[in-house]
Amino acid sequence: MSARIIEFKSTTQPIAHFIRVDNAHRRFGDLYAAGRLPIRRAVFDASRIAGQKEFVEALRRDGVEIVLDTEVAELAAPEKFKTHVKDAPWASAAEGDLLDPHFFDGTHSQVNIINWIAKFAVEQKVHTVLAPSHYLADKNFSNWLSVDTQSCIELRKSLDREGGNNIAIDYPIIHLHTALNQQSVRNQIVERINDLPIDNIWIRASGLGTEPKPQATKQFLRTLYDFHNFNKPIIIDHVDGLMAQSLVAFGGASGLAQGIGERCQFKANSWHKTPQERDSSKPFGRTTYIPISGLGRRLSAKELKLLASAKGGKKYLGCQDICCKHGVQNMLEDSRQHSAYQAISPIKRLSEVPDLNRENFFLESPLLEAERLARNIKDLNPSPAEAEKYSIDISSLKGRLTKYHHSVGKLSDALSLLHSERGAGAPRAKVCSYRTGCINIAQNRNR
Ligand SMILES: [Zn+2]
Repeated sequence: MSARIIEFKSTTQPIAHFIRVDNAHRRFGDLYAAGRLPIRRAVFDASRIAGQKEFVEALRRDGVEIVLDTEVAELAAPEKFKTHVKDAPWASAAEGDLLDPHFFDGTHSQVNIINWIAKFAVEQKVHTVLAPSHYLADKNFSNWLSVDTQSCIELRKSLDREGGNNIAIDYPIIHLHTALNQQSVRNQIVERINDLPIDNIWIRASGLGTEPKPQATKQFLRTLYDFHNFNKPIIIDHVDGLMAQSLVAFGGASGLAQGIGERCQFKANSWHKTPQERDSSKPFGRTTYIPISGLGRRLSAKELKLLASAKGGKKYLGCQDICCKHGVQNMLEDSRQHSAYQAISPIKRLSEVPDLNRENFFLESPLLEAERLARNIKDLNPSPAEAEKYSIDISSLKGRLTKYHHSVGKLSDALSLLHSERGAGAPRAKVCSYRTGCINIAQNRNR
């Protein structure tokens, strides 16, 4: 009770930051145990949580909110359903096929997925379940909104019946960001979800990206301001970089959800397609991308090595935060620790600024610093011999860095204009409460 009173009196409201654990529970567990992963909210995948018990338990003991992602959206997508999500308990109901609409619309007489999810959530002792919603721009089925909202109602009943009345539900709206920018689409969604038994809405916007696109950011902020009429906290899922920071600094969102180096953006444009077989002649493995402290952007390990070899490179690229004692060397050797700190740190920094100063602070500190840093990095001149060593086309890399610097400057212009249009004391997204105990959840629902 006291925590909530403080929250309303304070002019510095917390920004909810949910970290998606993905499959990195061992490394995260070590970082967490060493006090180097200061998280308050964590999202676990249904396909993985059972094997991540130790980490879940350590977080729960400390009062970290545990959120369960049911992964049903991916299980209904041809491109995704055979990935790790196939290990979600209810994936087996489809016997190797898609978990399609008839598992959710009441026409499948044998399997009750919603009850299965509720039982599992109770068994895993999570604090919150993301409602089993789907990608609304699904080319194979256009009625997910109707099916999903009914599933959400059923999930509340099932949770209450199965002993999970203390487990909260958040509702993910998964859609094209361009569709969400349309008033008619928003109206249709809000009309459907308006009376659902949910605490927060999560927005996973396909195509939003992480690059600081000035007009897209400004337009999406306006979309979020419109969602404020719904009077629920808003969490933006799968975001990162300056885009993510803009959305919370400018009061569009109450919080963010992201992975560390993974799931930092959302693209569902090929979800309806069957993935192509991997070419076995090509080397397996993904490129490691490393965030550059203060820049709001990542570079590949090779790009980082190349740019750091230029005169002045280490000064601009080397991390000087507590995650890396030895700058570039540590960034390369322990990119996970560096990435974790670099994801959490900018949001923590914003959280410490009083709400009504956040727009100004963001413009004058993180954004200005990123613009200066981007300018210095684009002007680095590594030697052609080094570039050849890493097989990097210098002019192409410098072109991308110049474009990024330009975009950051334009973003600053666009947000400065928005700031002056909004004026002092402009409305901000509702604060998202912690739900780590029965009392908090009950209070949250009654608001
Ligand atoms: Zn670092």
